[in-house]
Amino acid sequence: MEIQELSNNLKRFCREAGADLVGLAPVERWVAEGAVPEDFLPQAIWTPARTVIVMGMGMPLPIVESTPSVLHMELYKTVNIKLDALAYDTTRYLNRLGHAATFFSRDGYNSLKAFRKWPGAPFGHVMAAKYAGLGNIGLNHCLLTPEFGPRVRFVSVFTDVALPPDSLMVKDLCIKCEACAKCCPKNALRVRDDRLIGDYDKPACLEMAEELTKGRIYPCGICTKVCPIGQDRKLYKQPGIVKKYLREKEALTVDTNDPAYGSWQHLRRYGVKEPR
Ligand code: SF4
Ligand code: SF4
Repeated sequence: MEIQELSNNLKRFCREAGADLVGLAPVERWVAEGAVPEDFLPQAIWTPARTVIVMGMGMPLPIVESTPSVLHMELYKTVNIKLDALAYDTTRYLNRLGHAATFFSRDGYNSLKAFRKWPGAPFGHVMAAKYAGLGNIGLNHCLLTPEFGPRVRFVSVFTDVALPPDSLMVKDLCIKCEACAKCCPKNALRVRDDRLIGDYDKPACLEMAEELTKGRIYPCGICTKVCPIGQDRKLYKQPGIVKKYLREKEALTVDTNDPAYGSWQHLRRYGVKEPR
């Protein structure tokens, strides 16, 4: 099979298996940019790697908006399971065609306890998705995509085949509206004047994750909820929604039953130790 035909068939397979987004990143991009420590390069993790196939699955906005809630936690778990299955299926698809491949499951940091001790994962899907041309990094340190903004999760498959790469996305998608920084409950995101990507207080964000995990309503994801970028916003048609996000914390401090937030608060009241 010719390489372009393999690439087309592979992408079709990934989409039919459930991927919303698929991009191909040559491993040289990690070296060229030099933004990732050497041990974390795909070719360091698995020497034969030539291409990383990055797949993304969208997180439906109405569920993300209810965060923190059991519904959001269940969605997070479902998408994670589906991403791992996608990566496994894609690896086996390539194997059946006679190509070596392996994959790195989503996340990879195991538990928050482990994360606090060793803050990170052995491989980063955000950079992989950027190098696969699926989007670029916003103020909130998430990969913003034209389709879903940051409401998308990724998984990566490594193969020894040098597949034709997808173009990098040059134009920044983040409009530096600061909604993510303003709405972060831990002030973990700080705007910088000298660059687009903000400062990120990882321990503060981790503290939030730990609090939510104790209550079994993780993850937080407010910085993905409030981002105005993404065609998914057109689908859900919510004029004035960012203003509503920006008012949410204060409005609920005054009145937890504020009718403007009634449906989200309803979803947040169930399945938790201490109903809000
Ligand atoms: S996940 Fe939550 S706590 Fe962490 S940066 Fe985003 S909004 Fe802040
Ligand atoms: S919320 Fe605004 S500032 Fe934050 S990542 Fe999205 S576009 Fe950028």
